[in-house]
Amino acid sequence: MLEDAATDAELMEHELRRAKISFTSKRVETREDFVRELYEFAPDLILSDYRLPSFDGLKALDTTQKEFPDMPFILVTGALGEEKAIEVLKSGASDYVLKDNLSRLPHAVLRAIREAEGRRERKQARKDLEESLMVIGRAKREWESTVDSIPQLICLIDSEGYILRTNRMIEQWNLGQVVNSKGKKIHELLHPGCADSSCYLKTFWSHAWEELRHGRSTEGEFNDPVIGRYLYIQVREILPKISRKGEETASYAVVVVHDITERKQAIDRLKEYANELEMANKELRRLDEIKSEFVAVASHELRTPLATIKNAIQLLLQRKTGDINENQEKFLSLAEKNINRLTNILNSLLDLSKIESGRIELNFEEVNLRDSLEFIVSSFKPQVDGKSIQIEMEVEKDLPSVYADREKIIQVMMNLVGNAIKFTPQGGMISISAKPYNEDGNMVAVSVRDSGIGIPEDQLEKVFEKFHQVEESLRRSTGGTGLGLAITKGLVEAHQGKIWAESEIGEGSTFTFTLPVSKGEKRDLRFRYILDKEFQRAMENHSHLTLFFIEMSTEGAEVKDTLLDQLEEKLKQCLGRKTDVVLRLGRGKILSALCEADLEGARVIRQRIDEVLQKHPIEGQDISLITKVGMATYPEEALSKRELFRKAKEYLRG
Ligand code: ADP
Repeated sequence: MLEDAATDAELMEHELRRAKISFTSKRVETREDFVRELYEFAPDLILSDYRLPSFDGLKALDTTQKEFPDMPFILVTGALGEEKAIEVLKSGASDYVLKDNLSRLPHAVLRAIREAEGRRERKQARKDLEESLMVIGRAKREWESTVDSIPQLICLIDSEGYILRTNRMIEQWNLGQVVNSKGKKIHELLHPGCADSSCYLKTFWSHAWEELRHGRSTEGEFNDPVIGRYLYIQVREILPKISRKGEETASYAVVVVHDITERKQAIDRLKEYANELEMANKELRRLDEIKSEFVAVASHELRTPLATIKNAIQLLLQRKTGDINENQEKFLSLAEKNINRLTNILNSLLDLSKIESGRIELNFEEVNLRDSLEFIVSSFKPQVDGKSIQIEMEVEKDLPSVYADREKIIQVMMNLVGNAIKFTPQGGMISISAKPYNEDGNMVAVSVRDSGIGIPEDQLEKVFEKFHQVEESLRRSTGGTGLGLAITKGLVEAHQGKIWAESEIGEGSTFTFTLPVSKGEKRDLRFRYILDKEFQRAMENHSHLTLFFIEMSTEGAEVKDTLLDQLEEKLKQCLGRKTDVVLRLGRGKILSALCEADLEGARVIRQRIDEVLQKHPIEGQDISLITKVGMATYPEEALSKRELFRKAKEYLRG
């Protein structure tokens, strides 16, 4: 209360109490007190006299409005002219009450407070609304700039197929302005002015629209002639269609257009590279085959003249052509030595080319390793003694025989023991052992250990590559071609065995290889070996491989080998390629052919076999012959070797 007359103040309080208004009040008289209490007492309402000794009501009103514009302010005054009263109300007072009519005060107070509250609420509501609008505006801007920065063109479509909005990508693709895209259709937007009735986009869009009607999405990849890019277009329904307030949303579908030109070009480039690589690979394989062929032919052709030269030298050395002097003998011996060396190299090259082309002939039989090892030890005796090397052999008692080509196994062991002697210094030690090895099934392992110079760890596998020689050993010994271990490995693998080396520099090396135990029956190791090779080749070259089995049977009697030989000849006539292989298996009674033919080609070969057999029947005795054929083709009918074998066998049995 701004009131100098305490009694007036009491009267006012009395009126308020009478009207059951509960309140606390403070009375001030001066301007200073008034301003201070505005803050300290912090009233909800001000009752102010009009005229005070040191202050006046209108000034107080002015001060209040500046500090607290919403504060209710009632002038309680003596007589006030009409004009003054209007001025007071105009200046923002809530009301005025005449002192001689104080009974109106409670009503005026309650109303002023109510009005102030209403004002406050309205103000708060406005503020809340402004804030909400701000938040919505910010979210909208954020969302738009997010959508605009997506590197795909995004179009929102309404249920009639008209565009509601696109992102800025439209401008980057020079297809007009975002603001102008509204109301257009997709075709019109992406292909402005397009009159092509067979335009892919039209077809795609009508299909996509139909799908949308069934709630399904559509996508497609196109080389767009108008935009000049590869596009990947997705059309999806927007869900949910009903907003939270239950209204249907305007957006019906979204179209996302991806520019996949670069990816496409990269894939195309990759395809090109892959093609080039494939071509280069093919060429390399062809060159490799030519090289192998050349090496085989050259070695073969060189061997004959070499043998003649060797013969001639031997005749000279044996003085069968007359006497020779000491010097001549010396040179002739040197020539003979080198011819022997050359013959060995040629033989190695020939061996290797046979192994590489899978044309190596293996004559499997039961081989007693003890006998073979003893033979080897005795044949190396001169070299071993010459270097004072101690050699020992340890063959486990009751070691089973292996199933192998004796000559080839002796060649393998000769090579390993020969190397051991070559790379072991004077006074060293070599031990050879043979024992069962069951990690890979029923096998026997033969190891040759020496106390020689050793092989660096990183070369333990490389020594089996052709022409590979360890530098250190090259410095120490002369001779050698680096072919020995490559041949050795090829021979061991042709027996379905494995070979590996362990070594420690300066301590020595151990070479171990495994061979299958003989089971007293003929197993078609050679067939398995060739099937392995051919299958591998087909997989690597992405080519086809057909396996044929042909069986002849006679009523009651055993089929004669001569008949089978004839059949084999006829079969060879039917096969087209030089690389196609014909083999005997099942104790030589079944003929098998492996050819690079697909299903269609295999059928043609099959027909050819039938025709040849009809035209030139096999000259059997007077018995009727039944010829059965089983075949299977990779990859059409079988994806693995085992499956190929099984299927062909199954068909054979009918
Ligand atoms: P060559 O003996 O004709 O050089 P190989 O293929 O038999 O060819 O051997 C290849 C290389 O492996 C040899 O040059 C040699 O460096 C290394 N090597 C083979 N056997 C042994 C061994 N027992 N000790 C040390 N090094 C060996």
